[in-house]
Amino acid sequence: MKPKLTLIGAGPGDPELITLKAVKALQKADVVLYDALANSVLLEYCSPHCEIIYVGKRGHTRSISQDSINFLIVEKAYEKGHVVRLKGGDPFIFGRGNEEINFARERGIETAFVPGISSIQALGAADIPLTSRGFSDGFWVITGHKADGSLSKDLELAAQSTATVIILMGMSRLPRIAELFAKAGRGSTPAAIVQNASTVHQKVGKGLAKNLPQIAQSNNLSNPALIVIGDVVNALRSDKFTQLKSAEIYS
Ligand code: SAH
Repeated sequence: MKPKLTLIGAGPGDPELITLKAVKALQKADVVLYDALANSVLLEYCSPHCEIIYVGKRGHTRSISQDSINFLIVEKAYEKGHVVRLKGGDPFIFGRGNEEINFARERGIETAFVPGISSIQALGAADIPLTSRGFSDGFWVITGHKADGSLSKDLELAAQSTATVIILMGMSRLPRIAELFAKAGRGSTPAAIVQNASTVHQKVGKGLAKNLPQIAQSNNLSNPALIVIGDVVNALRSDKFTQLKSAEIYS
């Protein structure tokens, strides 16, 4: 038996937005460790002998620490063989996937990586393209939640550019983000908050960057949600046409 770790992306939430390669990894897993943002419906691909371990947050309890997850991966790989780590979106986009891979490699475990569709790509399912000729030459993807509690300096730089700005893990920082854009003279830039992008529970609120807290409040939006600031928010016409949620397309 050879210990092995495969880190796979679960996609943004709609269980059909996972890759074939990730499904095959789940089918071959001896152990799966998954967290809150990965849709648990995906665990149905696991074989009956597979051990399934939840390592995310439950209710208001703290999630299990990154150190404990790293140790668990190694322990299970030596005990049972093929460990699959299932993470929401893409594991290398704010997923700490690199930490898990390095920890396993340092302990002699072979690793593989299967990219996932990130929640940022699911913004299209909310009618928001990330780039648009004439509107936005590119996009920044920034965390709203640094380990020390401060706002990233990159957010200040991003606020000065005309590119699309996408903020993950930023829902508890809405007033500060709104203020930062207002200070940069970009308070009137279109903005949106998208909760549960790609799923049947998707909710969207739109307005202006300076009003981000009000957008969340009036549309009752909470985590998991993405904040998008940029003209792309209004790039698609919505007068006569309705955007189907991706989870509804084939159902
Ligand atoms: N690796 C993930 C991101 C993990 S960080 C990815 O590639 O998508 C966690 C943050 O991702 C959440 O706080 C939220 O901002 C965002 N997120 C993840 N799934 C989401 C979804 N379905 N809808 C909106 N935001 C989501």
